[in-house]
Amino acid sequence: MNRLENKVAVITGGTAGIGAATALLFAREGAKVTVWGRSEKRGEEFVRSAAGQGLDIAYDKVDTSDFEGVKAGMKKVYDRYGKIDILINNAGITRDSTMKKMTVEQWQEVIDVNLTGVFYCTKAVSEYMLAAGYGRIVNASSVVGLYGNFGQTNYVATKAGIIGMTKTLAREFGRKGITVNAVAPGFIATDMVAAMPEEVLAGMKAKVPVGRLGDPEDIAYAYLYLASDEASYVNGATLSVDGGMTV
Ligand code: NAD
Repeated sequence: MNRLENKVAVITGGTAGIGAATALLFAREGAKVTVWGRSEKRGEEFVRSAAGQGLDIAYDKVDTSDFEGVKAGMKKVYDRYGKIDILINNAGITRDSTMKKMTVEQWQEVIDVNLTGVFYCTKAVSEYMLAAGYGRIVNASSVVGLYGNFGQTNYVATKAGIIGMTKTLAREFGRKGITVNAVAPGFIATDMVAAMPEEVLAGMKAKVPVGRLGDPEDIAYAYLYLASDEASYVNGATLSVDGGMTV
């Protein structure tokens, strides 16, 4: 089924992990997909591997924490396809540390990418979506944004902040044909989670009722639903996709 036929989608942080799984799924569902990332080499590799699977995905080098670059990137997508229907604000980083040891740089770097980056991308895309009277914006939050997590003051602040932004933008844009929702993934098997200490990972797995870490595709399918026309009455929601970890 082509649930995103002729839709134009931008996926930030789309060359690895959840973003890459999403780009491949969206392209299979008929969308014209552009992925953003900071590494040209990684972007080119991803586009080549997608092409090997018969999928035509575009890559643009855009750092979501640079507003001028984000605006130029959005214009490039608009010029390429004549519209932008879907924005997946997926790019995110961690710089974990307890409050005692966390540096101002670690705090700021995570705020700049995870929170300000979402603001920049949403601001830039809203110009096109408001003019078209249609849009789907989906933001990557996290279970830790709902419940907190030891050693992640910076990251949790951004993921909780995203939930507040999502609710506010849902109110602002709802009447304009644009929905804004968030997904709160549990612990998903990507590079980000692989960087966690082994004993922390084992402890996390033990807490998940379905008995496993999530796959990137588990989140990609949630993004797909919220990005589809079928979700037109879902607005301002945060969908937990965590194997039941937080029930
Ligand atoms: P990942 O590290 O595997 O991939 C993130 C991608 O974003 C990478 O390609 C990275 O280069 C890119 N990126 C980082 N900063 C960027 C920037 N400023 N501009 C453009 N691209 C940038 O991460 P992931 O695990 O796939 O996570 C995707 C999203 O889901 C993140 O927002 C993350 O916080 C969130 N999330 C992940 C998990 C998990 O368990 N993996 C859990 C909850 C939430």
